Amino acid sequence: RAKAAGRGTVCAYDVAMDNEQQQRRELEHDMTQAIARGEFWLAYQPLVNSQSRAVTGYEALLRWDHPRLGAVPPDRFIPLAEETGAIISIGEWVLQEACRQAATWPDDLRIAVNVSAVQFWVPNLVDTVRNALSISGLDPHRLELEITESVVMRDNDSVVATLDELRELGVSIVMDDFGTGFSSLSNLKSYAFDKIKIDRSFIATIDRDTSSRAIMRAIVGLGHSMNLPVVAEGVETEEQLHLVALEGCVQVQGYLFGRPSVAPAFETRQVSAIVGA
Ligand code: C2E
Ligand code: MG
Ligand code: MG
Ligand code: MG
Repeated sequence: RAKAAGRGTVCAYDVAMDNEQQQRRELEHDMTQAIARGEFWLAYQPLVNSQSRAVTGYEALLRWDHPRLGAVPPDRFIPLAEETGAIISIGEWVLQEACRQAATWPDDLRIAVNVSAVQFWVPNLVDTVRNALSISGLDPHRLELEITESVVMRDNDSVVATLDELRELGVSIVMDDFGTGFSSLSNLKSYAFDKIKIDRSFIATIDRDTSSRAIMRAIVGLGHSMNLPVVAEGVETEEQLHLVALEGCVQVQGYLFGRPSVAPAFETRQVSAIVGA
């Protein structure tokens, strides 16, 4: 009996492995056609001022509605897209779509777009961003690119040059998920960032874990000493908002203010002018 059960276990494990492999391959394959089939869309989550609670902009978050599997979460398909290189064209689509959308919003609202490290490994990222800006007509100062530490982990000249060129275009660079990478402090020193976003794992525990709060305080202090505003992501409760605001985070993002959802619609200035006339 034990032997049979043992064999059964191995079998189930193999089947699970096969399914995993198979689903991976299926996703990798389907991803190559997802843009053309219109299966991707962008969800937008508000970024707000921690004092006034005024919306200052939105972060674009990629969504994939797979025809058979339904919604596939980005944490599942983006790593695959990075492995296959599909993220290059997907990332280009994201930039164009996000800029196009943001160009219809009031000018004081900014748009934040996530850019993968892999997009930095090909030579045309600056052109891709410049194109998205010119096609949409979006003011470059309204565009923020969120990058993670994996971009700057290999301290190489081409990354520095690319970041410099992007900033010359007028876009700003945000260090996302700060505090989870490997060489956080040295990265801040050697690269020119405009803003730091503290990873939501610290915010999630800030009301019960004193070390999260100490880390938060240290990051905000570091940011301020370098003249960098600090954003807290993943704020879900009033208590968390109170604490991050107290520690000096100027901007916040999280379910407390809104979940990522379909693009917000604003009345255009012309329409309101007509309505008012
Ligand atoms: P991220 O850039 O750090 O985005 C924030 C993530 O936290 C989003 O998950 C968002 O839905 C989630 N979040 C925001 N507020 C809260 C909160 O209060 N509570 C909780 N529990 N979660 C919150 P999402 O949309 O699943 O995206 C996951 C990650 O996938 C993103 O993390 C980003 O790294 C990546 N990603 C999403 N869209 C893109 C994209 O267009 N390009 C690239 N390269 N990566 C993307
Ligand atoms: Mg982000
Ligand atoms: Mg983040
Ligand atoms: Mg994240």
